[in-house]
Formats: sequence, C-alpha cells, structure tokens
Amino acid sequence: THFGFETIPEYLKESKVRGVFSSVAESYDTMNDFMSLGIHRLWKDHFVRNLNPGTNPLQVPQAKGWNILDIAGGTGDIAFRMLDHASTVNNDPHTRVTVADINPEMLAEGKKRSLATPYARSGRLAFVEANAEHLDMIPDASVDLYTVAFGIRNFTDKDRALREAFRVLRPGGVFACLEFSKVNNAVFNTVYKNWSFSAIPLIGQLVAGDRDSYQYLVESIEKFPSQEEFRDMIKAAGFVVPGKGWEDLTMGIAAIHKGVKP
Ligand code: SAM
Repeated sequence: THFGFETIPEYLKESKVRGVFSSVAESYDTMNDFMSLGIHRLWKDHFVRNLNPGTNPLQVPQAKGWNILDIAGGTGDIAFRMLDHASTVNNDPHTRVTVADINPEMLAEGKKRSLATPYARSGRLAFVEANAEHLDMIPDASVDLYTVAFGIRNFTDKDRALREAFRVLRPGGVFACLEFSKVNNAVFNTVYKNWSFSAIPLIGQLVAGDRDSYQYLVESIEKFPSQEEFRDMIKAAGFVVPGKGWEDLTMGIAAIHKGVKP
C-alpha cells in the first residue's frame, strides 16, 4: 500500500488504529461525511429502523427490552438512534445499549454527546473500553442484538471478532454490521475510487491537518472483503445468514450484513 501498513506487525497495527481514532475523535463527523459523501447519516437511520429495536421479532420478552451490544460504538451514533427508536417508535423504555470501543477518546466523546440525550442517566446506556476480539467482560449468550457500524474493517482479526460476536449472542440473537463495501456499478466505481483515493486524503489534510489518518481509512475500505466474502466469514463463525446475506446501500458504497445465531 502507499503507506506500507502490511509490513507493520499485527500487534502494532492495533495501536495504529488506536492512534487514527484518537486523532480523529473530534473531527469524527466531518470525517464520516467526507468518507460517505454525507450519506452515512441516512444509512445509519436505515440500519436502525430496519433492526427495529424494542419490538419483538427477536422474541425478547417486551417487559425486559433488548440487550444491545454496539461494538466499535465510538461516539454513540448507533446507540442513541437505537434508544430513540425503541422509545419513540416502539414505546419501549427498557431496551438498553452497551457501547464498547477500544479507544478511550472516542468513548469520552460519546459520553460527552450522551449528555445532550435523555439517556445519560437513564441506566439504559453504558460505555465500556473493550477490544472486539476479546470481550471477556461480556458473558456467553447474554446479548439479543450485536451491532457494529463502520468498525469491523479496522479490526486486526475479524474472524476472531465474529466468533466473539457469536459467543456473546443468545440463540436467536442477531449480528448486524453496517460497513463500507464494494461498489457494484463499474462507472460509478471509477468515480468513487478517484474521489476516495485523491480527494479524501487531501481534504483530511486541509480540514483536519491529518492526511495519514484519512489515507489509512481509505485503504482500510479498499482492503475490506467483498459482500460475498464477508457473508462467508459470517457463516464460518457459525451464523445462519438470511436470504443472500446482505443489503447494498447506495450502489454498494456500504452494505448491511446480518447473521442469526441458531
Ligand atoms: N460505530 C461508530 C459510527 O458508526 O459512527 C464509530 C465508527 S469509527 C469509524 C470506528 C471505531 O472502531 C473507532 O471508534 C475505533 O476506536 C473502533 N475500533 C477499532 N478497532 C477496534 C477493536 N478492535 N475493538 C473495538 N473497537 C475498535
């Protein structure tokens, strides 16, 4: 790659990822807007609406609400949407979300943002510093819904993280992942590649003064497996995959993958 990350040993790569997100924690929304041409907010809305937290397709007794684990939950984007949806759409005041992230700065930003929501002191929101590959603090079969949005492509050992997801979910529990993926239209793919490889690092430099972090993020998208490959990784971890296994968003710029623990 341009920056030779492959030559860096895996254990160093984790600290590299940590560094990237420490340096972008505050300019995080700006970064996402550039990476997704501003559409990530709509994708996240769609992701949450579609999972419909607080209703009953997961057979969770309504009185208890859902126990959701949002991995790589960073600044709380998905968690706040989940709680909003459960409360306002499904009239469910019990569903709760644990936001887990490897990076304390991202968690601190999430906690700060949570103060502007009704959930800060509700007992429905918790922040935990954790590596998705080692969720030792989360008991087996304790989670109803595991979400990971724009996180898994940064994990050093994705298969291990998938096996941890499988372990912590209860039978019938759902794994749901929103991630940048492979564009499925050749013409648009050329435009998109040009945009991401030339414009994003430049904008990163100009807006955040941090070219390397933005370059890393573009490359991590490029290296992430295709929709089919990732679906097969989910299956290999033991999940049953509904339908073809994923939904493309905006011509495959992003995709939602799901797996159910049998
Ligand atoms: N889910 C949030 C969202 O959609 O806005 C944040 C996504 S952010 C692009 C990626 C997050 O993954 C960062 O907060 C980073 O610290 C976290 N991360 C990277 N590697 C991780 C790991 N091994 N375990 C847990 N979190 C990790």
